[in-house]
Amino acid sequence: MGDAEEEALRRENAALRRAISLLHRIANLSRASLELEPIAYAILTGVTAGVGLGINRAMMFLVEPGTSGGDLHLRGAAAIGPIDEEEAHRVWTSIAAEQPDLQTLYEEGLQRRAEPGPLDRLVRTIEIGRDDDTCIARAWAQQCLVHCEGEVDSSPLVDPRTGLASPMRGRTGVHGVLYADNRFTGESIDPVTAMVFSLVADHAGRAIENARRYEDVARAARTDALTGLGHHGALMEALHAAVRDAVRLREPLCVAMIDIDDFKQVNDTYGHPTGDVVLAGVAARLRATARAGAIYRYGGEEFTVLLPGADTDAALAAAERLREAVAAAPFDTPQGIPIRVTLSVGIATLEPNMPPDALVHRADQALLAAKAAGKDTVLTL
Ligand code: GH3
Ligand code: MG
Ligand code: MG
Repeated sequence: MGDAEEEALRRENAALRRAISLLHRIANLSRASLELEPIAYAILTGVTAGVGLGINRAMMFLVEPGTSGGDLHLRGAAAIGPIDEEEAHRVWTSIAAEQPDLQTLYEEGLQRRAEPGPLDRLVRTIEIGRDDDTCIARAWAQQCLVHCEGEVDSSPLVDPRTGLASPMRGRTGVHGVLYADNRFTGESIDPVTAMVFSLVADHAGRAIENARRYEDVARAARTDALTGLGHHGALMEALHAAVRDAVRLREPLCVAMIDIDDFKQVNDTYGHPTGDVVLAGVAARLRATARAGAIYRYGGEEFTVLLPGADTDAALAAAERLREAVAAAPFDTPQGIPIRVTLSVGIATLEPNMPPDALVHRADQALLAAKAAGKDTVLTL
């Protein structure tokens, strides 16, 4: 073997060692969280950091259902990198001066999440169809690393000289596409870096798969199975947060306690399974009428609505709409017998220094008063 050949092998060996160590560090960074956003920032930091792959910019796109619910498309999830030459110069000068490590860059990036930079904001607005004419769509469709060479620069998004797009593969399929380029330096991305980039993308795919599964489980754990509403535990968490926010923002907060009238009779007459159907029907109608996420199953045939920003009058009006929505029409049942039910509702308004429990207790007392007043009615004390 000649000296030149030996030197080339030595260099390749060193590059591969660096690549493996880097892959390990990026993997560790992205394992620090089970949530989607921190994972995205960990991966993007690994791709762009000088101590990482050192590529100018990186963007992550995730597969999600279309707004109509049907066809799948890619949606921009997050991006790291400058939007133009000026920002590129500014950012790199400061980074070169500080030489931060991967972990520091990642943590700083996470902190900036509340105020995403221009590229991050731009990418989050982007939707890409499976058949779109871009290397990002091709990486998704072909399920392999794609070089964007020769691509018409139709959008300011991809760089036709240096762009790379890699599918993020998981066990159950492709979850998105990781894109990166050297738009500002124009340096072509060498084969070892491209290979590590594609391994990082696959690692991201598995991390995203786990994060999505975790999110499903976490959501299910907070949801009541019969009605699909948040359960008592979720209500208590939201209630405490709503009281804190109301105090901090000096805004009103009302709580409505809802109880189905004479529901025992429904069970006694038609059986518990039919009672369940009616209960789920009431919940669906309440959810369609109340503001999204504001309604919970307190327990049994009782529901609670949180009304942040609503004063007593607004809360009475909102509760009246809920009462009417349920009273307006009967509920269909498996036996084909339409069943009518009505609601009694008690409203309480947060007062200074009132703890969350007292607010619910007050609403409960108003509910009892509504029952005593003849049911199918909304009352506040
Ligand atoms: P009112 O509230 O008007 O005073 O009368 P009610 O008959 O609704 O009140 P009560 O609290 O005495 O009874 C509530 C009933 O709701 C009794 C219970 O069997 C029924 N119930 C509670 N949870 C469920 C459920 O998940 N499924 C069914 N089918 N029934 C339920
Ligand atoms: Mg009850
Ligand atoms: Mg009842």
